[in-house]
Amino acid sequence: MLRFAPSPNGRLHIGHALSALTGFDMARRLGGRFLVRIEDIDVGRARPNFVDGILADLDWLGIVWEMPILVQSQHFETYREAARRLADDGLLYPCFATRTEITAPAAAAPDAVDPDGAPLYPGLHRALPDAERAARLGRGEPHALRIAMDRALARANVMLGGRPLTITEVTAEGVATTRPADPGRWGDAVIVRKDVPASYHLAVVVDDARQGVTHVTRGMDLYAATDLHRLLQVLLGLRAPVYHHHRLIADAAGRKLSKSAGDTALADLRAAGATAATVRAMLGLEPP
Ligand code: GLU
Repeated sequence: MLRFAPSPNGRLHIGHALSALTGFDMARRLGGRFLVRIEDIDVGRARPNFVDGILADLDWLGIVWEMPILVQSQHFETYREAARRLADDGLLYPCFATRTEITAPAAAAPDAVDPDGAPLYPGLHRALPDAERAARLGRGEPHALRIAMDRALARANVMLGGRPLTITEVTAEGVATTRPADPGRWGDAVIVRKDVPASYHLAVVVDDARQGVTHVTRGMDLYAATDLHRLLQVLLGLRAPVYHHHRLIADAAGRKLSKSAGDTALADLRAAGATAATVRAMLGLEPP
C-alpha cells in the first residue's frame, strides 16, 4: 500500500508531481494499491478549494487512487487517542511556553538546532513543579504536548529488547538498505500542537499504520523526520513501513520549490497546454 499525502495549503507544483508519480509508479511496479490522504491538520492554512485543485491535478497526471480519501481534520479524536497512550506511558509533558519565550536568547542554546534548523526546545517546561503544572492545566492554559525524548528513547530501547532503532530505505528499484535512526536530534519535539490536537509527526505515523501503508514515498525534505516517526511507531506498537525518499526539485536559483512562493503550479502548466507526458519528461520519469 502506497500513498500521496499532500497538505492543501496551496496549489501543487512540479515537486509534488514528482512525489505523487514516484509513489504511484512504485505502487504499480510492485502490484500494490495507492491512496491519497489529505493532511489538513493545519486548519488555519488548509483550504477546501485547494483539495479540489489537488485532485484535479492528480487526475490530469494520470494517477488513480482508491476511495475513500482520508481527510485528517476529520480524525482528531484518533490522534488524541494515540497521544493519550503516549501520555499514559509518561512520555509527554505539557509545554505552555510561547514561541517568543522558547526562542528568547536567555532560554535558547544558540547552536542547538533540530534537523530542520529550528532552535531545539531548551527544556523550559520539562520540569515544572507538579503543583504549577496542575494549576496551569486546571486553568485551561493553552499548551502543546512535547515528547520527553530521554524517557522515550529509554522506553523504545526496552521495547526493542536493546536492538537499535533502524529505518529501512528502498530504492525505486526495490533494493533495501537499513540505516540507524537518531530521533534524539529532534529534542523534545511537539507531538500535540497548541492550536490543534495533533501534529504532523503524530498524524502521519498513526495514519500510515491504520491505512496499512507499507512503502512511504516522499521527498528528501522529510528524511530526518523519519527518525522521529520510527520512534513513535515503536512507542505506539505500530508496524514499520519501508521508506523511499526521493530527490527534491530545485528552482533555477537552487532553492527548494514551495507552494507559498507560487512556484510552477501544475494547474498553470496544464493551462499552458502541457500534458502528463510533458510533466513526466520534465521530471525524467519513464512514460507510464
Ligand atoms: N503532508 C506532507 C507534505 O505535504 C507530506 C507527508 C508525508 O509524505 O509524510 O509535505
